[in-house]
Amino acid sequence: MKILVINTGSSSIKYQLFNMENQTVLCSGVVEKIGEDHGSLAHKIFKENGDILKKEYEGHIGDHQTGFKHIVDYLINEEFGVISDRSEISAVGHRVVHGGETFKAPTVIDEAVIEAITRNIPLAPLHNPSNLTGIEVAMSVFPESKQIAVFDTAFHQSIPPYAFMYALPYDLYKNNRVRRYGFHGTSHAYVSGVCAEYLKRPLDELNIITIHLGNGASMAALKNGQCIDTSMGMTPLEGLVMGTRTGDVDPALPFFLADHLHMSLKEIDTILNKESGLKGICGTNDMREVFEKRDKGDKKAILALDIYTYRIKKYIGSYYAALGSLDAIVFTAGIGENSPDIRKFSCAGLENMGIKINEEKNNSYKKGLSEISTADSRVKVLIIPTNEELRIAQETKKIIDGLS
Ligand code: ADP
Repeated sequence: MKILVINTGSSSIKYQLFNMENQTVLCSGVVEKIGEDHGSLAHKIFKENGDILKKEYEGHIGDHQTGFKHIVDYLINEEFGVISDRSEISAVGHRVVHGGETFKAPTVIDEAVIEAITRNIPLAPLHNPSNLTGIEVAMSVFPESKQIAVFDTAFHQSIPPYAFMYALPYDLYKNNRVRRYGFHGTSHAYVSGVCAEYLKRPLDELNIITIHLGNGASMAALKNGQCIDTSMGMTPLEGLVMGTRTGDVDPALPFFLADHLHMSLKEIDTILNKESGLKGICGTNDMREVFEKRDKGDKKAILALDIYTYRIKKYIGSYYAALGSLDAIVFTAGIGENSPDIRKFSCAGLENMGIKINEEKNNSYKKGLSEISTADSRVKVLIIPTNEELRIAQETKKIIDGLS
């Protein structure tokens, strides 16, 4: 079975074609700058012998429909195509950012689902419209394939009301759906599944804290494999310190910025979402550059790392309390997978909670899954590379298998 995974943005389409017999990627690519003068398609074909063949197209790509046509041309290309007809694709799995409270699991897309995703646009005004465009175009370009939506928010729908509600007037929840939703669900779900496989224990017997540290960053607390809390909220701004986002701040801060600095709502939004986090403190949102600055003795970079890791540590502590007992902590995504110091500082001083990192293992990170806790650490500490596309393909396959 071949499954195409699609992540459609406002001016981009990312895709991976999976062969689900062995869960390998046949090809992947990204269409960028749709609607601009100079668009591009970068396509990679993964050969069985490990070689990677790269193909590129550059030129005007007027809209998403044209972008998809270019992708299909490359998929079935006579010289380097990996399939001979688009009907070989059994299903298209779409990443959809916001499923609101409507979707607790992946779902086959039909008119009612499209309507529900549309209803959730106010909750994700930057993402859901592009995801819908991707769905509509894919339905016309791959008419014989089943279309499945996999939601970033769905994994967090098991969070109980006392953890997802804000202490605001109740009507704001009832009438306007103001509550915490959480994001990165596909990543938290994927790494927790791999964690259970690695520990050779059923996921529903495990308490895990998953820590996704990319440009955006979030944590999740899983009790018996089910998410009971996560650090992002109604929007991705809440929680951990991120590349350019503040994470948690006093909610009265915008009033101060408006009253005393005469900032508009738009300026405040820009400050909190795009000018803060690591970038706001030390001038760069790229963690590698933060470390370069730190190594040269830059005090702001040192402070940025302290703030970043202290926030993670506070969340580990609060999630440990929420869970009652803890089997594993999983670090994932660009920073979580690649930065020994972030893992070390975030877990430093937690030895009495049974969290002990083996320094040598933490530093000698090799690609792939790695256990970095000491032999006597009560809590396993793991690095697990995330793979959101594979998770979307797996979820899509599960639904297709269930239909037949
Ligand atoms: P995205 O959220 O865009 O998918 P990623 O998961 O790719 O982000 O993570 C991007 C972050 O990972 C950047 O801050 C980058 O600096 C960081 N990163 C990547 N490689 C390393 C590394 N070797 N050491 C430290 N940080 C790294």
